[in-house]
Amino acid sequence: MPSVKPLLIATRNNHKTDEIRSMLGSSYSVTDLSSGNFPEIAETGTTFLENASLKAIEISKLTEGNILSDDSGLEVDALNGEPGVYSSRYAGKDGDNQANNNKLIAELSKLPPNTPRTARFKCIMVIAKNGKKLAHFEATVEGSIITNPTGDKGFGYDPLFIPNGYDKTFAQLGNEIKNKLSHRAKALNKAISWLESQ
Ligand code: IMP
Repeated sequence: MPSVKPLLIATRNNHKTDEIRSMLGSSYSVTDLSSGNFPEIAETGTTFLENASLKAIEISKLTEGNILSDDSGLEVDALNGEPGVYSSRYAGKDGDNQANNNKLIAELSKLPPNTPRTARFKCIMVIAKNGKKLAHFEATVEGSIITNPTGDKGFGYDPLFIPNGYDKTFAQLGNEIKNKLSHRAKALNKAISWLESQ
């Protein structure tokens, strides 16, 4: 029987962990920082890559094996790339998805009605081991932002984001479809291909 490979994700966001676990299936045993006694890693970087690197490197100093981090967010063209690296705390409080969505709707409503609402989710994954960054991978999914949150699946900005080629939000499409086309799915495919080539 092929062995099950352990993979620690340097996150406390259980939505990210669930998506990664479901994408990897039974050949990986995926855990995150909610189990174990890990410190908070402050996301003091100003780019996705800096924050992803911080998380993976700091956690890899504390435990053995490959550590995978995911720093991700939404870039809205009409808002000059905001919320970007500040996606999880756009409205002030970290992880308040509803307040973040409300702020995004409010900011877009200030713009002229025919302003393009193009946007993308971006994900940077870093693999680190023993305090050193080994590799990083970036991926995006392009789409647009609608005016009213629609759908009850997923997390974060999913109810406002329609990926190109679809007429439903990620929150309507659900994880089976999201996990085939998302920024996270594409970054994870690259990261796993790299890990398995080592
Ligand atoms: P991080 O934990 O600093 O990487 O922040 C990630 C934030 O970006 C989340 O809290 C969400 O607001 C947003 N985000 C990232 N990926 C997704 C996604 O797949 N769906 C919806 N929102 C996302």
